[in-house]
Amino acid sequence: YRIFFVGLNWKMNGDKKSLGDLITTLNKANLHEETDVVCAAPAVYLDFVRSNLRARIGVAAQNCYKVAKGAFTGEISPAMIKDCDVEWVILGHSERRHVFGESDELIGQKVAHALESDLGVIACIGEKLEEREAGTTEEVVYAQTQAIADNVKDWRNVVLAYEPVWAIGTGKTASPEQVQEVHEKLREWIRANVSEAVGDNIRIIYGGSVTGANCKELAFRTRRGRLPGGRSLPQARVC
Ligand code: 13P
Repeated sequence: YRIFFVGLNWKMNGDKKSLGDLITTLNKANLHEETDVVCAAPAVYLDFVRSNLRARIGVAAQNCYKVAKGAFTGEISPAMIKDCDVEWVILGHSERRHVFGESDELIGQKVAHALESDLGVIACIGEKLEEREAGTTEEVVYAQTQAIADNVKDWRNVVLAYEPVWAIGTGKTASPEQVQEVHEKLREWIRANVSEAVGDNIRIIYGGSVTGANCKELAFRTRRGRLPGGRSLPQARVC
């Protein structure tokens, strides 16, 4: 059984006023008790958001570096994120990979260090449009996941976010069938290449042009996935 997970990635948006308004709305929201909700805020606002958002809702950083401290101008560490009482970090987001040139290897190292520092990690993977059109989607997402597996032993605090690059910020949402197909293949790959237990238990979510109008359909479809033993799977997305 996996707890449903909804992530809200605010990216490089907002200011104290608008984030304060969002926090007020979220603090009043009626949330299903068996749903994890996590908001990823810009680094400079992490302390502000964590201090004002009710504890029921998690907070995530959108990136961090692979060591605790040092001469790495402009970076933040998992230790600093923890020091702000923030529980999660997004790593490997497609904008980090493709705007800032982060490699699979660096992302694997960052995921490992963040987990060792006791943060939960939302690890993002996903293919570009040309990779999907060339039929290499599986190859790409398996290689991205392998780079994490090369560094990580304990996956209990990892949520894997399948976020096809062509769906991010484009308004071109993947269909529920497309999402389900990749999620199923990823779960099978993890069962075969990491362990059956990790494959069965890891939460795999979807991100990319999720809206209020399409989120139910995506969530419904992914919820209908089945474990190999036939049990049904509560699933989740990043929106
Ligand atoms: P959009 O919802 O803007 O497509 O972005 C999704 C995303 O980047 C999730 O991390």
